[in-house]
Amino acid sequence: MSLSHSEQITRVEHPVIARDLTILRDINTSTAQFRLAMKRIAIILAYHALKELPLNSFQVSTPIKETTGYDIAQPITVVPILRAGLGLTDALLQFIPNANVGHLGMYRDEKTLQPIDYYSNLPEDIEDAMVLVVDPMLATGGSADDALTFVKQKGAQHLRFISLISAPEGLKRLQEKHPDVRVITAAVDEKLNKDAYIVPGLGDAGDRYFGTI
Ligand code: URA
Repeated sequence: MSLSHSEQITRVEHPVIARDLTILRDINTSTAQFRLAMKRIAIILAYHALKELPLNSFQVSTPIKETTGYDIAQPITVVPILRAGLGLTDALLQFIPNANVGHLGMYRDEKTLQPIDYYSNLPEDIEDAMVLVVDPMLATGGSADDALTFVKQKGAQHLRFISLISAPEGLKRLQEKHPDVRVITAAVDEKLNKDAYIVPGLGDAGDRYFGTI
């Protein structure tokens, strides 16, 4: 399945996101404020990413009478790209507490700027699951491309990619390489700099989230 540009990319606009992105971008924001702002945005993105989940209906008894109730009919697997993706994972688990969580460890070679895989641990049986690959920064798209290719090789068929800030370069790469994967993002920034950081961006999301600057 190939999605058109507008079907594939959802940029979520919301006043809370506009305020919280500013907190994230601000160099003077503390680690504690940074974590809270990331979590609040992640909750709004999660709401959008999960909008089309299928439902099962069943009968439920209220104290007054029987009525129709619903449960989510598709298993969910969240796959954070380590390490910064961990900052988005908790928000998704608030909506789907029984989701499985897989991990993909990748770092960027500072010379070649290419993603290097160093760890992977995915749950079994992801064929039927909605797999949400999460990374706050979609920069060159290299890690996202690798991660999506990896989970597809493991059998995943229903995928979403969630990022806080995307660069046009990363979005283009996902459009070319994974036109079936919907991308939910809070911002599309100007460009990448020569070190492949997003401009204006927020710096290194992992360092800022974990306080390792
Ligand atoms: N990863 C980050 O943490 N920040 C960027 O700007 C690009 C990639």
